[in-house]
Amino acid sequence: MAAKKTSENKKSYNKIFSKLKEHHKWFSESIPLIASENIPSPAVREAVATDFGNRYAEGWPGERVYAGCLKIDEVEVECMNLAKRLYDAEFADVRPISGVVANLAIYSAFSDPGDTMLAPSIPAGGHISHGKKEHAGTAGFVHGLDIMFYPFNAQEMTIDVDETKKRVTKMAEAGKTPKIAMFGGSLFLFPHPVGELAEFLKGYGMHINYDAAHVAGLIAGGRFQDPLREGANTMTMSTHKTLFGPQGGLILGSAAHEESIKRAVFPGLTSSHHINNMAGKAVAFAEALEFGKKYAAQVIKNAKVLGESLSSEGFKVLGESRGFTESHQIALDVLQYSDGGVAEAELEKANIIVNRQLIPGDIKAGRNYFHPSGIRLGVSEITRLGMKKSEMQEIASLIRQVVIDGRDTGSVRSKVKELRKEYQKVRFCFRGSQLGAYEYVKLR
Ligand SMILES: *Cc1c(COP(=O)(O)O)cnc(C)c1O
Repeated sequence: MAAKKTSENKKSYNKIFSKLKEHHKWFSESIPLIASENIPSPAVREAVATDFGNRYAEGWPGERVYAGCLKIDEVEVECMNLAKRLYDAEFADVRPISGVVANLAIYSAFSDPGDTMLAPSIPAGGHISHGKKEHAGTAGFVHGLDIMFYPFNAQEMTIDVDETKKRVTKMAEAGKTPKIAMFGGSLFLFPHPVGELAEFLKGYGMHINYDAAHVAGLIAGGRFQDPLREGANTMTMSTHKTLFGPQGGLILGSAAHEESIKRAVFPGLTSSHHINNMAGKAVAFAEALEFGKKYAAQVIKNAKVLGESLSSEGFKVLGESRGFTESHQIALDVLQYSDGGVAEAELEKANIIVNRQLIPGDIKAGRNYFHPSGIRLGVSEITRLGMKKSEMQEIASLIRQVVIDGRDTGSVRSKVKELRKEYQKVRFCFRGSQLGAYEYVKLR
């Protein structure tokens, strides 16, 4: 009996490792265009694999609840200092384990259940963590906030300043003045009008948070916008989308917000804060300080070229009147060929990894998350691998072959594999190990 059971267990155990290896190989032969993803350096992977991941360090450096944190404290102080330097901020809390947890800490610190928050709707680029209770959005479902959407200009693909002022004035008259104004989003082509609205919103006593989950690496590189200078009180983010991190979260603000944020993060929202990932964030922040400017510039250049190329290939690219994008993202409306869900599945067969995307107008037209009009593309990861203009043009052509021409996905997949051969190392990082970007590391 016992022996048979063990062999079943070993089968499962072996299966896990063979799937992990297959995944690494697949991604080394694919074009990864998920805008929320990036590839960390071997240095970040090394930090994440350390014993820090097996420890607890509840609380703040120097005031921990457990012993054994001497080295952890030194790394965490370094991590906070790097984050503050990277974003020119007075205060950094590096403990949130994700962007969602960082946002929830802001809701907890600066609002009460039943308060109202102003945020972008999902088709206008908002994230589910800004969402309403009826959609199980974090803000509504977990913290009990009422959500009021910003008026959005779909032509310009950004928040409408004048209409927002009118809406807020009406809400104030109705006794529903929002407590928090949330900027930032997941479909995020152009900067949000933080500078244009900050003074007006603060006039109503609102706390302004900028969710930089997607554009954190661009902001770190001095591009896109500078929310903390434009009037945002606090900034939340994920550390792994355009930043170089392992998956994690970060909150920045001024000294005035320090105590409320610290309390919300611990004990409010974390016990372990995944200390190996904290060390990985520290390495990623050092890389961003050293290489972030060049990286951000190349990301935006690549995104613009990809947008222009897709438009020349015949696609309807959003934000055309503004040059398609100022970020790492491109959004396509593919409804005339199929829909976002079908395009995503076909492209995946060709090893081109994208995600379907709700875009402005979809909800009104009765479309849903499974079959929206759009797909979203991001160039953070392929830029980190060293791709430039001519690769962007080739990728646009490959996407056309699948989505517009309906070409056999197997033949496109061969071309994708060929294109990827040259791009197997992570760039924009300190010289060191030549471990491949998707090389599988065996420790067993
Ligand atoms: C991805 C994203 C988040 C969530 O970040 P996680 O790190 O995945 O929890 C929050 N806000 C926005 C705008 C995002 O795009």
